[in-house]
Amino acid sequence: MIDRSVISFYRKVVQCLYAAFCIMVGWQFYNFYLWASGTGASYVPRPAAVEAFLPISALMSLKRFLFTGKWDAIHPAGLTFFIAVLSGALLFRRGFCGYVCPVGLLSDAAERAGRAARVSVKLPRCLHYPLLSVKYVLLGFFAYIILVKMDIASIESFLQSPYNITVDARMLLFFLSPSGITLVVMVGLLAASFVIKHFWCTYCCPYGALLGIVAMFSPLYVHRDEQECRHCKRCQEVCPAGISVWDMEKVRVPECIGCLECVASCPEDRCLRINAAGMDRAMPLWLIPAGVVTVLMGAWLVALWTGHWHTIIPDQAFQVFYRRFLPN
Ligand code: SF4
Ligand code: SF4
Repeated sequence: MIDRSVISFYRKVVQCLYAAFCIMVGWQFYNFYLWASGTGASYVPRPAAVEAFLPISALMSLKRFLFTGKWDAIHPAGLTFFIAVLSGALLFRRGFCGYVCPVGLLSDAAERAGRAARVSVKLPRCLHYPLLSVKYVLLGFFAYIILVKMDIASIESFLQSPYNITVDARMLLFFLSPSGITLVVMVGLLAASFVIKHFWCTYCCPYGALLGIVAMFSPLYVHRDEQECRHCKRCQEVCPAGISVWDMEKVRVPECIGCLECVASCPEDRCLRINAAGMDRAMPLWLIPAGVVTVLMGAWLVALWTGHWHTIIPDQAFQVFYRRFLPN
């Protein structure tokens, strides 16, 4: 059993390790892009893990897989990662958001900086609740287009298209050479994250919205013992999503990212714990982070072992696609 006081430390360690991994993958992909687009001299292999950043393409592949049994051969790692993250949410709540996603780490840092600069504000309930719906509207938009409007033939044709084959580089260019509107939106979101705690994760992220819906079926949840609670509201203060834990017996709301910061900061030893549905006893606190990381690593190993990780497109063919189909 890990001690409550070290949860935050271990959470930071896991977040930093994954952020370092993302930076490594991003750097390798950037150098691959330079080589493939003809602007860099030396060849570096394309890292398959870059496909983890293509959830829209992965959602289409998932629909095709469910209807036809065909595993995506263009971005197979993207589909593997997407299914692993959804499975992780089903079993271990949104532990992916709480422990793995680097945007969560950035949001934590922005929040801390905002508090130090005394610019952070708490949204009134009349704004908080309507704003919570923004991420569901964005998710609903993507779900409607992909799951309702697009039939399997159109998904098939999109997945084979030069646009989808070059979508990893398009995403890189989106951040490297943002348009005026993109820049304004990115600066606005960054500024909002300094002022409002976890602005992107709580109100805007459609990926988080999807994981929140899946996590509602997870057996794990934070349980509060009313007899032990002092109603000090420390749990709500430290909660990245601002959830009023002190007012609930079972925290099963989709906004809970399973970070366990509330459990770590509660002054009462036996007040907050992790429970599993149907079992009236505390589960080990390492279960959520260890579970999420194990599902991700396990999916990666299985995909590697069964040949469902690397794309069928040779790196030399990416060279042709990037040079022909990417905007100059
Ligand atoms: S921090 Fe613990 S004691 Fe304080 S209100 Fe929250 S659950 Fe109750
Ligand atoms: S309720 Fe607790 S576990 Fe859930 S997001 Fe808030 S602090 Fe994290």
